[in-house]
Amino acid sequence: MRAVIPAVVFVALCSPAYAQIGDLLKKAQEIGEQQKKKLDDVMISAEEERQIGEEVSAKIRQRFGVVQNAGVHKYVTLVGTMVARQSERPALPWTFIVLDTDGVNAFASPGGIVHITRGALGLIRNEAELAGVLAHEIGHVAHKHTVNAIEKSHAVKMGTSATMADRAPFLDQLTNKAYEMVLENAFDRGDEADADKASVQYTQKAGYASGTLADFLARLDDRNKDQPARNGLFASHPETRERIEKIRRQAGTKTTASVEARYKQHIKYEPIPITSIAAVEDGSAGLTGSTSRKSGDKSKDKKPAEEPKKKGFGLGNLIPTVAPESKSAQVSASGGARGVGPDRAARGGGNATVVKVVVSDAELETFRKGIA
Ligand SMILES: [Zn+2]
Repeated sequence: MRAVIPAVVFVALCSPAYAQIGDLLKKAQEIGEQQKKKLDDVMISAEEERQIGEEVSAKIRQRFGVVQNAGVHKYVTLVGTMVARQSERPALPWTFIVLDTDGVNAFASPGGIVHITRGALGLIRNEAELAGVLAHEIGHVAHKHTVNAIEKSHAVKMGTSATMADRAPFLDQLTNKAYEMVLENAFDRGDEADADKASVQYTQKAGYASGTLADFLARLDDRNKDQPARNGLFASHPETRERIEKIRRQAGTKTTASVEARYKQHIKYEPIPITSIAAVEDGSAGLTGSTSRKSGDKSKDKKPAEEPKKKGFGLGNLIPTVAPESKSAQVSASGGARGVGPDRAARGGGNATVVKVVVSDAELETFRKGIA
């Protein structure tokens, strides 16, 4: 940058047309800014992180559908916001979405969009467990696990000639990669352990019994005992037992608030036997990670989730159990090569529309008093 400006100024001074000087200086400044941006090109701004998260969420919603129930969303949002306020990033625009599928899963989208499935809510027994599961996902977001893992892996790179104007394809790649990671729960062991620890800390600070993630994991582990090792939430890690014990050690026995009655009052879903979960057929809508944004197109009004892509969700496409997903191999060799379990392959609902709920500080305060 230091070399650029004097050279351009020299050219400008030699020019007989003084009117051009301003233009040239402006040009020099732009070049300087572009060079600085090149240094920053792998750094993701908070706005970009959220934008990636919104797009990842749109794909997840399109894949599984959204439970169209404001009461359920309000309750999950109250619990989730309570927990997220205890995190290292309390001020993010935290959003909680309940996905319309029997599969047991939870997905943390970058920038603060946390998804949990109807199937998971059915398996969870009390509010403290819900807090524990949400807190684990919140931990992934608060510690930027997805974005950091992509940056570390060098899986996504800008071309050497790329400038800010060409950032859209770079962000598209990042979004696709993030979607794969989030959908496959493809965090490494270190990040999982970190999110588990965060779960203990956040729930403890919020006043909940803090080892509850372990209770949920133990139930999930028992439910999955006849499954191949890999199935949905946390399943990429066969060391589940080890994790459960570690969470319990970290949690100790400080508080006991499980808040079961309030959970049962708001959540009426029953656990679904794993053998009853219907799967979508290979190659169904929303399973791949392609995006529609073109290079240089900065329009933010694209809403892939609201496109009526429903092929594959019809009853005719239901198959009984595991759907190997060859299509995702197009996006990720590692992700696509593995089989997916019933939770990951589970059929979803057809309505991807977000159920908007607002939670005020006063409501949160009142809600907090119910944790006992
Ligand atoms: Zn995780």
